[in-house]
Amino acid sequence: MKFSTTVPLPCVGHAELFFTADGERGPAVQARAEAARALCARCPIAAECRQLGRETYSLGMWGGEDEDQRQQHQPRRSNYGGGRRPGECGTPSTYKRHLKRGEHCDECRQANTDYVRQKDRERRARNGTSRLAIAA
Ligand code: SF4
Ligand SMILES: [Zn+2]
Repeated sequence: MKFSTTVPLPCVGHAELFFTADGERGPAVQARAEAARALCARCPIAAECRQLGRETYSLGMWGGEDEDQRQQHQPRRSNYGGGRRPGECGTPSTYKRHLKRGEHCDECRQANTDYVRQKDRERRARNGTSRLAIAA
C-alpha cells in the first residue's frame, strides 16, 4: 500500500511518540500514547494508516491504534509469535535457540528475518524518517 497526501503528516518528526521506549512503564506509556493519538486524530490518512498497521502486524501506534488494540483485530496472531505457544517454532526466540543448538529451521529463520526487518523500520522511524518511509 502506498500513501499519497499533499499535506505534511502530523507524526513526521515525532516518531519517538509512536513506540514504547525501553523501560517505559505505566503512566509514561499512557502519556506518550495519548500524545501520539492526538497527532493521529488530526491526520488525513489515519484510516489507511490504521489498516496498514493491522495488515503488517506492526509495532507502535498506527492510525491512533496501539498494539493491544490491533491485537483485537488479529485474534490469533501476536506481533512476532503468530499466536504460538512459548517454545513453538516460528519466532525469533526459537530461531536463536536453533542457532545455539546448530539446528536448521526455515520457519524460525523466516520469523527472525521478519523481526529484524521490523526492528530496522522502527530504528529508521526513531531516527526521524517519515512514517511514509515505513509504509513505502
Ligand atoms: S501514525 Fe499514521 S495516522 Fe498517525 S499521524 Fe502518522 S500517518 Fe497519521
Ligand atoms: Zn524452528
